[in-house]
Amino acid sequence: MSLQFNVSQLLKSGIGQSRAYEFEADEPLVLGEESASDVHGHVRFMLTNFGIVANVDAHGLLHLNCSRCLEPFSSPVDMTFTEEYQPTIDIATGLPATTPHNDSAFEISQNHTIDLSEALRQHFVLAEEMIPVCREDCKGLCPTCGNNLNTDPCACPPAQEESPFLALQGLFADRDTE
Ligand SMILES: [Zn+2]
Ligand SMILES: [Zn+2]
Repeated sequence: MSLQFNVSQLLKSGIGQSRAYEFEADEPLVLGEESASDVHGHVRFMLTNFGIVANVDAHGLLHLNCSRCLEPFSSPVDMTFTEEYQPTIDIATGLPATTPHNDSAFEISQNHTIDLSEALRQHFVLAEEMIPVCREDCKGLCPTCGNNLNTDPCACPPAQEESPFLALQGLFADRDTE
């Protein structure tokens, strides 16, 4: 199974008709430096007077690097989203489609195929941004010696004098007394 679907039969049917499919990516999705593997789910395509609306229910395993301790970790994600796909070719005439162009819609290819991979990639990137750290209480790296404090605690004194947050706390304290 791949992420491409020929929708020519649906395009020739009536508005409101729909088709449902399962999908499974053959390869991990590349999300910049990170990736999502085991991407699968199901999609329902519905014909509208504009084009095709895809309701997607997707699952996968994100492979990320923790922004605090920098270690790689994996996190399963589940998501649902809706995207619009606009024809580039009018299936009845074979001529370029005349529907008003919608900038936020993806294109249905000239051979009437919808490729879900770009929409999935974008939604996995959004999901990735919601998971910045490997775990909520990740202790991160020691600012002095660089040890990973989750697995390798060190004896460095806390470097609190340098913290900009202390200066901010001072500001808020002043305000409270006004
Ligand atoms: Zn971490
Ligand atoms: Zn240290």
